[in-house]
Amino acid sequence: MAEGPSCWGSSMPGPTTYDVIIAGAGPAGSTAGYLLSKAGLRVLLIDKSTFPRKKLCAGLITYKTVRLLERVFGETVDSLKEQDIINYESCHYEVYCKDTLITQRDIPVPFRFIDRDTYDYFLLGKARQAGAAFLEGDGIGLRSLDILKSSVTTLSGKTYSAGIIIGADGVNSRVRRSFLVDLFGRDDWSGNLAAAHEIFLERRGAKKQIWHPALYFDYIDDGYAWIFPNRDRLKIGICALNNKNRKDLLTAFRHFLADMDMAEPQEGKIFSYVVPYGSFLPNPVFRNVMLVGDAAGFADPLLGEGIFYAQRSAELASQAILEVIKGGSGLLTSRQALADAYIKLLRLHIFTEFEYAGRIRDAIFTSLRRFRYLPLKIILGLLGDKPAETVHGIRSYKWMRKL
Ligand SMILES: Cc1cc2nc3c(=O)[nH]c(=O)nc-3n(C[C@H](O)[C@H](O)[C@H](O)COP(=O)(O)OP(=O)(O)OC[C@H]3O[C@@H](n4cnc5c(N)ncnc54)[C@H](O)[C@@H]3O)c2cc1C
Repeated sequence: MAEGPSCWGSSMPGPTTYDVIIAGAGPAGSTAGYLLSKAGLRVLLIDKSTFPRKKLCAGLITYKTVRLLERVFGETVDSLKEQDIINYESCHYEVYCKDTLITQRDIPVPFRFIDRDTYDYFLLGKARQAGAAFLEGDGIGLRSLDILKSSVTTLSGKTYSAGIIIGADGVNSRVRRSFLVDLFGRDDWSGNLAAAHEIFLERRGAKKQIWHPALYFDYIDDGYAWIFPNRDRLKIGICALNNKNRKDLLTAFRHFLADMDMAEPQEGKIFSYVVPYGSFLPNPVFRNVMLVGDAAGFADPLLGEGIFYAQRSAELASQAILEVIKGGSGLLTSRQALADAYIKLLRLHIFTEFEYAGRIRDAIFTSLRRFRYLPLKIILGLLGDKPAETVHGIRSYKWMRKL
């Protein structure tokens, strides 16, 4: 990459100086790492975990994710199955309100399932093959970010600098917290964070086998429970908005497991995490620091789907960086140009969808609270395949305007 380093004002190249540093090597970080390395930039990816690492997730990927994997990495569904990245798929899905079935459908495009340790390791491999340097494990986690010096310091005290820093370090992002923005006072951030619990049940020896994804409402306000199948295990979880939730989520989860006749997990086997659930940041860029994926709250406000949006926002951030570098303007102009380019792309490809998805979610939760399941059952019955097509990204959420 000829113009990159000088355009972005990096000092003399060396092992601690890069064009781009990416904190976090989940789907967002590895996708940006792959695209930017492939374009010829010197990229350093750093992650506090050692890969392959565990990540709490139900592992459902939609059609739009599969298309992204093909567009960005040249991988098809067949090649992903051959490499055991996609390990299961189902064309059937069911939605319940407690034990009442409110819709079940067979759809032409299946929902597909991955295991996050394999999937994330696979994407990281792509970034490394494209030339990204990678540092991982204890001591490598990002401790601090110096925005003025455009550098990051790891837990072990080593400092690396770059023209651009990307925060892809998940929902509890340290990069985001270095922005000095009072996020926690903002209703739209803290008010749209969900808590989640999940267990993994191995199929071997399980009392019950379920071979399609199923969603369950009414176990908790402002959230839902799920059973998602994998080839070898079931992923069973629950999530709900933190602040609106009047019931105890863990109690609701145990109630759900008992109703499903699923084995109560041994102590310590219920995992917990946070999901951005409509808490996306409209301006996730400050000077030359950009946020992608969960770090910016980019998960779908309807179902909390985040893998696609992590990768899509990384793709858009990479596009913005490459466009601005190609433009060849000076650093100060480029910083503004970078923010403008990234936010424009986010508005075009992500934010409008999130806004509609958020409205639909609020309407569903309000309707369930007031009228229980009947209106939702009637509407889902009338809509046929449209909801699944929307979740898959085959049609935009905007069609809901017509309802
Ligand atoms: C219970 C649950 C179920 C879910 N199910 C689904 C699903 O079925 N489908 C779906 O699409 N989405 C699902 N999601 C959401 C999805 O998991 C996230 O949206 C997605 O992982 C976001 O990817 P990311 O790359 O932005 O962040 P992450 O995957 O969280 O990756 C962040 C990376 O940053 C690293 N990191 C963190 N802090 C530091 C630091 N200080 N220094 C260096 N590295 C750091 C971490 O080790 C990690 O590797 C689920 C989430 C939860 C909690």
